[in-house]
Amino acid sequence: MQKIAFFGLGNMGGPMAANLVKAGYQVAAFDLNPTALAQAQREGCLPCENSEQALEGAGIVISMLPSGNAVKGLYLGEQGLLQQLQGDTLVIDCSTVSAEDACLVHEAARARGIRALDAPVSGGTAAAIAGTLCFMCGGDTATIDAARVLLQAMGSKIFHAGGAGAGQVAKICNNLLLAVHMTGTAEALQLGVDKGLDPRVLSEIMRESSGNNWSLAHYNPFPGAMENVPAANGYCGGFSVALMLKDLRLAMDAAAGSASSTPMGALAENLYQLHGASAENQQLDFSSIQNMFRRPAGA
Ligand code: NAD
Repeated sequence: MQKIAFFGLGNMGGPMAANLVKAGYQVAAFDLNPTALAQAQREGCLPCENSEQALEGAGIVISMLPSGNAVKGLYLGEQGLLQQLQGDTLVIDCSTVSAEDACLVHEAARARGIRALDAPVSGGTAAAIAGTLCFMCGGDTATIDAARVLLQAMGSKIFHAGGAGAGQVAKICNNLLLAVHMTGTAEALQLGVDKGLDPRVLSEIMRESSGNNWSLAHYNPFPGAMENVPAANGYCGGFSVALMLKDLRLAMDAAAGSASSTPMGALAENLYQLHGASAENQQLDFSSIQNMFRRPAGA
């Protein structure tokens, strides 16, 4: 049985690791958060006390971490994982980080003869649980081919975006667009409701019309308009406002680097910044941006 060392068992990494177990892999799991680790154990992963224990006998390393600093901290430097791995190890970082940070990991891996991919994902927690994530891979073709069966245990769509870091570029373009259509969807739904429409009826009309988009059809932000989404559950779980803000900052930094014009992304970033000004909102799912559009009581 192939052994995988899996780092980061949060909202996304937890179900991804569980799907690898279901596919027959032995998954040695490590997370700084004991609650996440205990949940992974319930899903059939082998809980590890530290990274050294997780790496024992593992030919594959997967990470799903919250930030570029966490990824660099895990892989780089004298104490980093890349110094401890065998040359034939396959390293797949699925976190969303800057293309520059991804390239640092690629370069350090290449220097030690280790194969690496940046492979951020889209689809949210529902797709992570269902094993239908979309992977956007950066790296060489041979490494993607070597990783394909493994990625198929967690996802249904595997794209080769280009060389090192290209997966991350695709991911921030996608999330810039996601933020724009989520805020636009929330705005349109609130307008309809303020004018007396039922959000379910309005959602159905727009889903069948030219306003249809993923936020509306699969992740409706208006409470009561859709079952089994964070809006139906007080905006708990899912993809946090803090993580969306991180991705929008990555997108704005990338745009500045290429002198690209991104006014829609900048506006979405402003809205999420305002919304995320309270620490409480930062932890809510990003569809809670709906609350920004609610009329104050009595208005
Ligand atoms: P999360 O905060 O739920 O989980 C991250 C986990 O990583 C936490 O359990 C944390 O304790 C752990 N961690 C942090 N540093 C660690 C380290 N050095 N070693 C081991 N564990 C460590 O975040 P998430 O929602 O699972 O997102 C993870 C990544 O996936 C982010 O980069 C995010 O942008 C991306 N992403 C999230 C979603 C989503 O819908 N949540 C969708 C697509 C992509």
